Amino acid sequence: MSEPLIYLDNNATTRVAEEVFDAMAPFLREEYANPSSVYPFAGPAAAAIAKGREQVATLLGAKPEEIIFTSCGSESDNAVLRSAVKTQVGRRRILTTCVEHPAILNTCRDLTQYAGVHVDYLSVDSQGRIDLDEAKALINEDTAIVSVMFANNEIGNIYPIRELSRLAHAKGALFHTDAVQAIGKVPVDLQNDLTDVDFLSLSGHKFHAPKGIGVLYRRTFAPFATYLTGGHQEKMQRAGTENVASIAGIGKAAELALLHIEEENTRVKALRDKLQAGLVATCPDAIVNGDQEHRLPNTLNICFKYIEGESILLRLWDRAHICASSGSACTTGSLEPSHVLRAMGLDYKALHGTVRLSLSRYTTEAEIDTALEVLPPIIRNLRELSPFGREE
Ligand code: PLP
Repeated sequence: MSEPLIYLDNNATTRVAEEVFDAMAPFLREEYANPSSVYPFAGPAAAAIAKGREQVATLLGAKPEEIIFTSCGSESDNAVLRSAVKTQVGRRRILTTCVEHPAILNTCRDLTQYAGVHVDYLSVDSQGRIDLDEAKALINEDTAIVSVMFANNEIGNIYPIRELSRLAHAKGALFHTDAVQAIGKVPVDLQNDLTDVDFLSLSGHKFHAPKGIGVLYRRTFAPFATYLTGGHQEKMQRAGTENVASIAGIGKAAELALLHIEEENTRVKALRDKLQAGLVATCPDAIVNGDQEHRLPNTLNICFKYIEGESILLRLWDRAHICASSGSACTTGSLEPSHVLRAMGLDYKALHGTVRLSLSRYTTEAEIDTALEVLPPIIRNLRELSPFGREE
């Protein structure tokens, strides 16, 4: 593309880091052996898998043998929930939240329909926060697994995983967290901090590795039954010839994530805060969504009342090739407001004018300045055209 792109949609996906690309390249070219083969030519491929496993384990404070490579975050989420209803014999409930990613919500729905499971959903308040007392009341001897996301992809809220995992274990339930959005943005320490987490999902493309590679962390001795049967790969926990290049890539991305975590929480956070403060100051009726005290450092979810998020996105692209997301999902031709914002009880006029801007370590101050220049006039102009006007 000729014009520069301003990519503020890093919760959707991220660009592959150069170092990650370089780590992958040999396995897409000359080192193409099947890592399970016995001849020496397969050695580098097998070694790349072992190295990737160690790098991911180091990022999480885990042991290498606790890392299972999968194809994506959605697969890891599916694997855990489907496994728990098999291994937790006699327990027929799952506890999750109403603001999870569809990878969890639709898997729960499927298990309700076809596996006779009952799912309880934690509610959220107007800032998207859950209530630990509600969790305590809902976890019981029939709960097979509690699955709560580490951080929300839309509003960036960070949830109290340590406390929730303790509550789950106190009742003999397993605990899983979908940490797809947290990895690389906030520290995750499974060895010293989150010692009651049994399973954790992550996805390479959210932290500068390619799409199509994920990880399922399984704590040693946590009961697990695979749903992807076949060969002996991943110690028979996930069949299928390994995606060697992407495993090398996610390993390198994990190493880089550790190096950049401080920058994420200082420079990137400062840029996000500058963007937020600038928009709130220049756009009347702009409301920041989510829990501003416990939020990912890169995420800003902001609603501009009385206008459509999609119109904002189109103009952002037209004016300055800025990529962002709205709070609506395009389903069957209609714009369905996000289930997260609806669960928070946002009113209709606010729901539709929501935009998510998400930064990364590649975001520059000049890009944020451009967004701050371009966005306020777009909002003013759309409001002038809006049938809702500014009247309540
Ligand atoms: N969980 C969360 C919180 C996500 O944000 C996403 C992707 O957006 C996923 C799961 C699914 O990950 P993948 O795209 O790797 O399947």
